[in-house]
Amino acid sequence: MTASTTDTPTTTAAAAELDRAEARTAHNYHPLPVVVAHAEGAWMTDVDGRRHLDLLAGYSALNFGHSHPVLLEAAHAQLDRLTLTSRAFVHDQFADFTAKLGDLCGKDLVLPMNTGAEAVETAIKVIRKWGYQVKGIAADQAEIIVASGNFHGRTTTIVGFSDDPDARNDFGPFSPGFVTVPYGDLAALEAAITPRTAGVLIEPIQGEGGVVIPPPGYLQGVREVTTRHDVLFAADEIQAGLGRTGRTFACDHEDVVPDLYVLGKALGGGIVPVSAVVADRDVLGILKPGQHGSTFGGNALACAVGSAVVDLLATGDFQRRADDLSVLLRERLDGLVGRGLVGVRVRGLWAGVDVDPAVGSGRQVCEALLARGVLAKDTHGSTIRLAPPLVVSEDDLAWGLDQLAAVVG
Ligand SMILES: *Cc1c(COP(=O)(O)O)cnc(C)c1O
Repeated sequence: MTASTTDTPTTTAAAAELDRAEARTAHNYHPLPVVVAHAEGAWMTDVDGRRHLDLLAGYSALNFGHSHPVLLEAAHAQLDRLTLTSRAFVHDQFADFTAKLGDLCGKDLVLPMNTGAEAVETAIKVIRKWGYQVKGIAADQAEIIVASGNFHGRTTTIVGFSDDPDARNDFGPFSPGFVTVPYGDLAALEAAITPRTAGVLIEPIQGEGGVVIPPPGYLQGVREVTTRHDVLFAADEIQAGLGRTGRTFACDHEDVVPDLYVLGKALGGGIVPVSAVVADRDVLGILKPGQHGSTFGGNALACAVGSAVVDLLATGDFQRRADDLSVLLRERLDGLVGRGLVGVRVRGLWAGVDVDPAVGSGRQVCEALLARGVLAKDTHGSTIRLAPPLVVSEDDLAWGLDQLAAVVG
């Protein structure tokens, strides 16, 4: 059992940086002891010159890999021309980005924000306003149905409807108006709908929860039930979307089109934070000037990078690649079930693996992987999430999975 006996591989340069980072920051993260200096594609190089295969891809913010040349070029070119006007004025990157992203989603309108949590907050506000103005829900009575095990971000409203004690404890009082039902349980969702229900907000696959894939037909069921009850369906595709699962959106696996796409992470190409809510006019059109905004949302640099991201996605190449590499990922991980792993969930180039507690904690496995030049991140105890950049080569991926096999075997 390699996992629990690993020494932390730190040299003087890394150790000094780790100490400095630890000394002057809030300890709201527990990073692996590695200090990265530069990165390209699927590989990161630390301050001591050691190379590491990235199997996290910035929680899918780096779907196109580190330093993708097309994205870097778009960023560099824009950086020298114009970076921000605020939305008080229109800039020449705005129309292109919103039109392209709207087309990618098959929707009329785009509302650009910065972080994922802001996009989720935006969706909540839009759903509520739609509930009052279109559905006719009585003032301040609107409810939004969410799922157990969700992760939608870190604002006070959002952590208020999380059921992860770390995420929510001691951050209350929380915003009312959210009803939690078990994830994947369609009957429970329908039973929770009342005349006050304005929307349903779910992740089509729960990323932070450990790449939890709902039962087949669930997303179609959510679509059917929400349509029948005149309730909006918002899909938080911030982590699952934009190529990760082998489709543009995770909802595509069930040919489902939600009323609102909530996007982030990979939309910024790993360069700048870019998020958005994308929906048709009858939904997003309810917002009028002054009712919502963001100083940085839709800035020129973000739009230039976001446009380049949408161009990459429009080719379908990255989705195909995730789909192709999924075969290897699934095959190799399935082969480890009973040999160090007790559960495996794969969709596209994305996997949640449950490590046999006898092998060690998820953290210990990740530390052992680090010692072998592989970077991955545990989530919730013994679960590890694997999300390599979609540009990873088949050989590199196979090598990374060899390291996992060696660590858990
Ligand atoms: C990461 C994530 C968010 C929050 O995004 P931030 O940019 O960190 O605010 C919201 N929803 C899902 C599904 C996520 O994975």
